[in-house]
Amino acid sequence: MKELQELWKNVLNKIEIMVSAVSFELWIEPLEVVDFPNSEKLILAANTEYAKKQLLKRHNEQLSEAINEIFGKDVSFEVLDPNEKKEYIKKNRPDTNQTIISKDEEKQNSFNQQYTFDNFVVGKCNQIVYAAAHSVAENPGKRFNPLFIYGGVGLGKTHLLHAIGNYISSEFPNLKIKYVTCEQFTNDYINSLHGSAKELNINKFREKYRLTDVLMVDDIQFISNKNETQEEFFHTFNDLFQNNKQIIIASDRPPKDIATLSDRLKSRFASGFIQDMQVPDFETRVAILRKKAQLEKYLIDEEVINFIAEKIDTNIREMEGLLSKVYFYATLLGKKSATIEDAKEAFKDDLDEKREDLNIDLIIDAVCKYFSVSKSDIVGKKKSKEIVEPRMIAIYLACEMLDLPLVVVGKSFGGRDHTTIIHARDKITEQIKESGKIKSFVTSIKEIVNNN
Ligand code: ADP
Ligand code: MG
Repeated sequence: MKELQELWKNVLNKIEIMVSAVSFELWIEPLEVVDFPNSEKLILAANTEYAKKQLLKRHNEQLSEAINEIFGKDVSFEVLDPNEKKEYIKKNRPDTNQTIISKDEEKQNSFNQQYTFDNFVVGKCNQIVYAAAHSVAENPGKRFNPLFIYGGVGLGKTHLLHAIGNYISSEFPNLKIKYVTCEQFTNDYINSLHGSAKELNINKFREKYRLTDVLMVDDIQFISNKNETQEEFFHTFNDLFQNNKQIIIASDRPPKDIATLSDRLKSRFASGFIQDMQVPDFETRVAILRKKAQLEKYLIDEEVINFIAEKIDTNIREMEGLLSKVYFYATLLGKKSATIEDAKEAFKDDLDEKREDLNIDLIIDAVCKYFSVSKSDIVGKKKSKEIVEPRMIAIYLACEMLDLPLVVVGKSFGGRDHTTIIHARDKITEQIKESGKIKSFVTSIKEIVNNN
């Protein structure tokens, strides 16, 4: 069975380069393998009667060539329309009542089955974004177009995109949905520019993206500094938008903070619905952990759940990581349910580096001392390099050494937005890797803080 699936995949790959992208998407790719009696004849099914006709009229020879090449010369094929498929199955495979390789199964697998609306815990922090995502899933292309979701790492953006995907796949099975990360989109585009048949490839790329009814692009922030990809995405966007196709975008920051995002893309995004996801409050964090434990069938004491929700408050992925960690820790000890003692032991290396008496002021003081700048400059608005660099380092240290929500860090730095905080933190994280100078600043200041 597995082998047949592999072979069929190879046939598809082969035909994909023989025919136009439109033909492939419309007539070839939807084919199902109904049966393969005596390993002699492939019984295929098209998804409509019209598709069968078109397929046989336009691509009979290519299909035959690809099958011969992949399966060997002795294999023939026959294409059925949906009614013929039903009759065939009734007659020849009544025991299983299904096809060998069916499209529905494949479709279901393309989205994470756990990332559904039902499994998404709604709190104050995300209720609007949840409602908008749900509405888009119910009425794709009709409201909130494009939908632009942004928020910090691990807050559930990808989960929501998959939830939309799962919902539309089951409620509107005829709609074509495409989910890509910005990176995939970029690579796909770059690949289409290479090779001998450049013109052909770029057309295929365009058709592939423009033939969808719902396009989702995750982590769009990575498009900054990629001018050509931006240009291409702009055209894809316009094409889909003009045809009332739904576009959904996720990002770790709002469009205005994506460096070098072209103004016209910014204004396209702004024409739809832009909504952020906030950091969840304690109750929501507990509810998310409970849900996760229930889904994974982890037996974990309530006390442990509260403990994790108290310790981690900005990143749900990190909370979930601790939850599995303590569960597996307790399981290895042969325990039925993970207790608070297990949690403390299991998280020893993750949590106890943070000193109880540490606070932002101590960090800012150390930075001021080190760089000989004033506190009012650090938290103020000056943009000169002598101030900006120490400020970013202070923000980085506040994020790294303390367990505070970004919003709180932002407040302590003159009411800065949490995205500004993320930007500074990430920039210094990068610079530490690249520059010995920044790294030594950070190490020295940490020492000052720790010895205070
Ligand atoms: P992001 O894409 O924003 O970085 P993800 O969507 O990957 O974050 O979410 C990280 C993890 O947290 C996933 O396992 C996701 O299921 C879970 N998660 C995030 N928000 C929620 C929520 N509100 N309810 C349930 N699980 C959530
Ligand atoms: Mg994500």
